[in-house]
Amino acid sequence: MIQMTDVSKIYSNGSVALSNISVHIDKGEFVFIVGPSGAGKSTLIKLLFREELPTSGHLVVNGWNVGQMRPSEVPYLRRSLGIVFQDFRLLPNKTVYENVAFAMEVIEAPRREIQKRVHTVLDLVGLRSKARAYPAHLSGGEQQRVAIARAIVNKPLVVIADEPTGNLDPDTSWEIMKIFDRINKDGTTIVMVTHDQPMVDAMRKRVIAIEKGRIVRDQARGVYGYED
Ligand code: ADP
Ligand code: ADP
Repeated sequence: MIQMTDVSKIYSNGSVALSNISVHIDKGEFVFIVGPSGAGKSTLIKLLFREELPTSGHLVVNGWNVGQMRPSEVPYLRRSLGIVFQDFRLLPNKTVYENVAFAMEVIEAPRREIQKRVHTVLDLVGLRSKARAYPAHLSGGEQQRVAIARAIVNKPLVVIADEPTGNLDPDTSWEIMKIFDRINKDGTTIVMVTHDQPMVDAMRKRVIAIEKGRIVRDQARGVYGYED
């Protein structure tokens, strides 16, 4: 699913974000990526969807050799991924329904299939009754649920989330985490960067800790392990 072998990332200004990272993530895993600010967590995530290219090493994501693939193939890699950000990134001029449907329209799914699938995922995140609402009229938790629905609507193999509960209060964060857990139990791999200590400690999933661009800990059923 995700195979990183000796991957390094050095930005053009000389900043070393990742140094010789090797990690394997299997289908169906739920992985938290933790570590201090500046450790390289976001960089690692960006490599997975080829927002950034590795400087060296070997990275395979869902069968795509990320460092070697042609630019024209990148949309196919990204279709195999669902991505959720801290700041939701919804389209403000589209309704909930349209935000989610849009992800299927860009891959030219048939209209009937879009209607059916969008309703299924809105049910899954508990937002069917808000289908006609605009993002500005939703709470932060509801907006994040729309973003999750959009991320999973095309049935990705892996969902990548960069601090998805970073803007949410603890109760709302729990609801969001329950949704990720359900998606994972349906077979989708989850890779999540988070600073949410109580959540990581309660979930007891695999925890990979990064410090100064290196993996310093990789635990099954792990804990957060930092004081922040
Ligand atoms: P984290 O997500 O753990 O906070 P990042 O991956 O954002 O860490 O950053 C890792 C290191 O790479 C930091 O030293 C950061 O300053 C640097 N960095 C991140 N993005 C860039 C960039 N676009 N250009 C140069 N340096 C960057
Ligand atoms: P409903 O009784 O479910 O509202 P409608 O006949 O109004 O049914 O619409 C058919 C389905 O298509 C609805 O379930 C609706 O949610 C969905 N739909 C299609 N386009 C949109 C849209 N732009 N905004 C919200 N829902 C839409």
